[in-house]
Parts: sequence; C-alpha cells; structure tokens
Amino acid sequence: MRDSAGGPRVLLRRLRELMAEALDPQERLDHIVREIAQNMVAEVCSLYVLRADSMLELYATEGLNPGAVHLAQLRLGQGLVGTIAASARPLNLSDAQKHPAFTYLPETGEEVYHSFLGVPVLRAGRTLGVLVVQNRTMRHYREDEIEALETVAMVIAEMIATGDLARLTRPGIELDLSRPVSMTGLPFNEGVGLGHVVLHEPRIVVTALFNEDSDVELDRLETALDSLRLSIDDMLSRRDVAFEGEHRAVLEAYRMFANDRGWVRRLQEAINNGLTAEAAVEKVQSDMRARMMHMTDPYLRERMSDFDDLANRLLRQLMGRGPDALAEIVPKDAIIVARSMGAAELLDYPRQKLRGLVLEEGAPTSHIVIVARAIGLPTVGQVKGAVSMSENGDAIIVDGEDGQVHLRPQADVEGAYAEKVRFRARRQKLYQELRDRPTETKDGVPVDLMMNAGLAVDLPQLAQSGAAGIGLFRTELQFMVAAAFPRVEAQERLYREVLEAADGKPVTFRTIDIGGDKVLPYFKGAQHEENPALGWRAIRLTLDRPGLLRTQIRALLKAAGGRELRMMLPMVTEVNEVRQARDIIDREVRHLSRFGYLLPTRLKIGAMIEVPSLLWQLDELMQAVDFVSVGSNDLFQFVTATDRGNTRIADRFDPLSVPFLRILRQIVRAGDQSGTPVTLCGELAGRPISAMALLGVGFRSISMAPAAIGPVKAMLCELPLSDLSVMMDEALANHSASTDIRALLRDFANKHSIAL
Ligand code: PEP
Ligand code: MG
Repeated sequence: MRDSAGGPRVLLRRLRELMAEALDPQERLDHIVREIAQNMVAEVCSLYVLRADSMLELYATEGLNPGAVHLAQLRLGQGLVGTIAASARPLNLSDAQKHPAFTYLPETGEEVYHSFLGVPVLRAGRTLGVLVVQNRTMRHYREDEIEALETVAMVIAEMIATGDLARLTRPGIELDLSRPVSMTGLPFNEGVGLGHVVLHEPRIVVTALFNEDSDVELDRLETALDSLRLSIDDMLSRRDVAFEGEHRAVLEAYRMFANDRGWVRRLQEAINNGLTAEAAVEKVQSDMRARMMHMTDPYLRERMSDFDDLANRLLRQLMGRGPDALAEIVPKDAIIVARSMGAAELLDYPRQKLRGLVLEEGAPTSHIVIVARAIGLPTVGQVKGAVSMSENGDAIIVDGEDGQVHLRPQADVEGAYAEKVRFRARRQKLYQELRDRPTETKDGVPVDLMMNAGLAVDLPQLAQSGAAGIGLFRTELQFMVAAAFPRVEAQERLYREVLEAADGKPVTFRTIDIGGDKVLPYFKGAQHEENPALGWRAIRLTLDRPGLLRTQIRALLKAAGGRELRMMLPMVTEVNEVRQARDIIDREVRHLSRFGYLLPTRLKIGAMIEVPSLLWQLDELMQAVDFVSVGSNDLFQFVTATDRGNTRIADRFDPLSVPFLRILRQIVRAGDQSGTPVTLCGELAGRPISAMALLGVGFRSISMAPAAIGPVKAMLCELPLSDLSVMMDEALANHSASTDIRALLRDFANKHSIAL
C-alpha cells in the first residue's frame, strides 16, 4: 500500500463514513470499491458476492465494465475468483492470465490487467464473497497490502451479514448467507424444536469494528493478552488441572498459542490497519478458521478448536462479558447451538425459553446430553459446521427424532415441521391417556417404568410422566451445578424435596458419582489422570474421602426420616467396597440415633453394575446388597473398551448385540436366583427398541429419562412378552454372536404392529 494514498487507516475511516451516509446499497458499494481502488493505487477493484446457488456474482466494480455488474458471474471453484472463494485463501499473482484457473469473462473487459490480488470475504470462517484489486503492470502485491485488503473484506462481510446487500439481489435469488441449510447429525434426544439460534459462548459477535486510536487498541490487546496468559498460567500451576475440566495438554496448547508471536503480530497488524482489538481477534481467527477448514488432519483440526477457544477467551476479556450476560439476550424460543458445552453451562440458560440444542460434538451418553434429556430438550449432536453456518437469531428447527437440523428453513419445511409438532402433540396426548393405564405388557406382565432425575427441576415430571418412581437420582448434579461443595443442609433440603415430591413412590439416591467426565471445578483433591474414566472416581473417591460420603449419607438419612431410604453405590468394582460403605452408613445411623433423630423406616443399599469385574462375583454381590442396578452406559463403555464421550466411536458398537445382551441376561438370572431385585438405569432403557430387548432378556424394572416413559409404555402395552422372551432366548443361545438383534427386534415389532 502506498503511503501517498493514505494507507489502510485512512481507507477504513473513509469506509466508516460511507457506511454512515444515507446512500442506497448499490451506491454505497460503488463508492466503497472506488475508495479501495484509489487507496491501493489499483486500476480495478471488484466485489463478488456468493449466492445461494453457489455462483459468485459481480456486485460492484471500479475499473471493469460497469455494465457487467450483476451480470458477470462465476461458479464456486471456477476461475480465479471461484478458486479464492472455494479455498478461502488469497491469491496474489503478477500475471493473472498465466494462472491455470484464469477464466476470461468477455463482458468485464479485464484482459488488459495483469496483476491480480483477491481475498475471500469471510465471516466466522465462512466465505461470503471475494474482493479483488487489479493493476495493468505486472506487480506483486506486498504482504501488508494483502493484510489491508483482508481487513477491508471483513468490513464488507459485516455489510453482507447485516443484510445490507440483500436488497440488491434480483428476485428469486438469494445470498449464500441467507441460504437455507439442512444438516444431519445424530439424534440425542427426541422431540422437535422450532425457534431461533442462540450461539453459545464459542462465538461472540463483534460489532465495533473501527478503532479511534490504534495505540489505545494495542494497549487494550496487550492488557487482555496479559491477563489471558496469567489466567492460563494460573490454571496450569494448580495441581488439580484435571478437575478444571480442561485437560492439561489443552492448556499447554493455549499457553503456547497465547505466546505465539505470529498470532500476536497478526492481531497487532489488524489493529494498525484500523480495527478495534476485538475486531482484530475476530478477523485473525476467521482467516485461520477458513484456512484450516480444509485440513483433514484431525490433530490440526483439534488444535484449531483450541485456537478458537483461546480467541473466545480473549474476546471475552476484551468485551468484558461474563457468561451471565447471555441469559438476557435469549429469545423466548431459543435453540442453543454450540461446539460443545458443559452440563452446568446448559443449566445457566433460562429453561423455560429453551426449545432445543444443537452440538457439533457430544456423544449420546455424555453428561451434557444426559442433562438435556433430563430437561426434555430436543437435541441433535455431531452436527459438523453448525456453529459457523449459524447467526444469532436465525430461524432453526431441531428434529431430535431423525437427527436433522434445518437452518433458515424455507416456508414449506417450516410448515411440514409445524405439522410434525402437532402430530407429536397428539401423540403426547395419547401417552397421557396411557399414563393412567396399568403398566403391563399385552400378555399381562407388570413392569416398573421408573424415571431418572438429578435436580429439583426434574421433579414435576414424576407426576407428568406417570413414572413408578425415581430409579436413579444422580446426586452429583447438585454438586456439578454449584460453585462450591453444597453444604449438608442444602443436600438435605434437596433430598427432602425429592422425597416429598415422590409422595411414597420409591426413590433411589445414588451416592455422589464424580470423577471421570463429571468434574467439579472447586474440588481440589484430584491429580491429573491419563485415563479419568478408569481413575479415581465414584465410590473409589468417596471411600478415600469419607468426609464427603459421610456428609451426604447424613443428609440422606435425615431427609428420609420416617420413610424408606434407598441408596445406591456407583462404580463398584469389588464386593468389599459395598461392605466398607455399609460400615460408614451404619456408623452414621448410630450417630443420628444417639442424638435422637427420626431415622428412615427402612434402609436399602444397592450397587450399580458398571464395572465388568462384578460379572464374575455376581452371587457374592447379590448377597451383599438389597438390590442392583445396571449402569449400562458405563458397563457398555468398559465391556467394549469404548470411551462413552468419544464422538468418533460413539456409534461403533451396538449394545443390542448378542454379547452385551448375554451379559445383561446373566445379571438378571443371578438376581432371580438370589431373590435380589435387578433394574437398569442407563440410556438403553429409554428407547422403545432397546427397552424391548431389556424386557426380552428378563428385566421387569427399568429407569429412563422422563420423556421416554410415554413411548416405552406405548410399546410395552402392545408387547406379547412371552413370545419375545422365547425369541430372545433362542437368539442369544443358538445364533452366532454376530446375529443382527436389532433387525430381529424390528421384525418382531412389525409382526405385532408395535410402533418403535
Ligand atoms: C450408567 O453408567 O449407565 C449410569 C446410569 O450412570 P451415569 O450415566 O451417570 O454414569
Ligand atoms: Mg455410570
């Protein structure tokens, strides 16, 4: 860029003036390209905008034939402009016509120009168009000129995103940005949600683009970077990093990036070119994201996510925005779109305004998904690109039944979904009618359908769903959403509330199950673990920290005074752990009775079967407990050595397979032999087809998310269970281990007109 022309700062100032002037959009664009050409001492400056039909249309030009505006067009990937748009990378050529991708558009009259610099117009890593300058002479544009053009492109991206250019499109044509997009992910929680996008923290929308004073902005950047670095160092220096929820390696990478000179230099450069510090962060990040989007190396892509997180932290520092400000901007029909998020973060949103959740990551048994299910939120996970395709406020539909997400849906799609919602409402009504019918199979076998819960917000569902009780109360959720360990009084209050809401129906409280993927940021006892799922968690942790367990047991015993109390121990690996826990419980009972407290009328202690080693001590286990409950999420994870939170392998193995069902049947039989009640409370219980399989191998009590009870009950009422049991026995006994059980179940359901 020549100094004589004023440099990028002057240009940005001019652009700001132009944005503020009362011009019609075409006039404004014409002025803008003229200013850019003048400022960059280029003979040509042209803007191409990407349309929904993947064509790049010439929207404005200085220097090319003005008659070609809105007529000249190139397909995405075609010509130099199409190549830039498709690759999201700049092209800098001293002799453009020699480039193999060069395509001659006769209407533009561009043949006399040799040198060519084009940059993508990017927003959140998405290409919205291409901005080009050209000169007659064969010259090579300098790095700082590329940088300057990219900065201008960012301003244009903002114009496109705010809908400024939409008025220039011809009838029937749409810009790419407003294009309806349908994406497919995995259905994580059923239900259909219609509403508007709320981007979860990962993207902060920067609106103040132009700086008043670069030095002030550079100072702001430096201060924000300093506190960012300090906070990362601080996190790293703590010994309990594993419990911060952020793996040490990620933090190390953050630290490396935060000190990365190239990154910092690019940020400073963008500020020097006239952007505010936050716009500079957004610009540098958008460029990087667009370039990395084409990378297939999973490691590099993962690093990109780290960079994204870091940039967002920096933006939050700069914009001084805490997560709580989010609640205010949430519309009344919010659909949260996030790359990933913690369970506690979801609960920060005002629940009554939430209509759905879309995650780029997530696995069906990860805790965010369990919480989403608990609060009945239609959820689709593993939707690639959802965050960068969405803008806050976009209309969106989430279909948790078939895993579809429709962004900016067309009227007919919206109409079809409105119909689907009405259909679902009719079905819900049917479930409600079923609610008061006895829960038994078609051939008269009674089954207990229980619900899972974990927070006070779940309690109204007990009556609404018609559950026979709470089969799993995840007490750790109260700990996960708190800022510090809940005091004994707070625990007791919650447990009492639960028992009162249950009104005599059985409730099984699981003792605190933390560790693994359930992190408590304030828990300072843990060390970094290579394999947290196999590490110091659940009953292992609480036996080593008996103070924690004692407090909880005391709260439970007091809350259940005068009632039955059922307690369940998570992640039991050997029977001895049950005995140790019993000792602690007995001691607490003695303590409370000495002080004259009203004690529970009956105390039942159960173990969860989640660790495979229990399978070889089932008889002994059954003698040591009053009941068992299969935690199929963890049991399946350990039996198949498949990390339940790892999206890459989430679907690889099927729990409805001969080996896993044989295991489940073995557990039921051991229970029957010893007269010990057996139930199952993993996510398997909540889908009609897998619930059917569970009944087929002998379960007569299962516990699931409240919203699943209606569909499971509808299945059950039509189910001839004795026929199914015969079929399952035969399949598990005789067929090969690779028999397609899912297909068998589907056929059976079809034959008996059971809707799955
Ligand atoms: C399970 O592992 O199946 C279970 C019910 O416990 P959680 O999902 O809370 O680990
Ligand atoms: Mg578990």
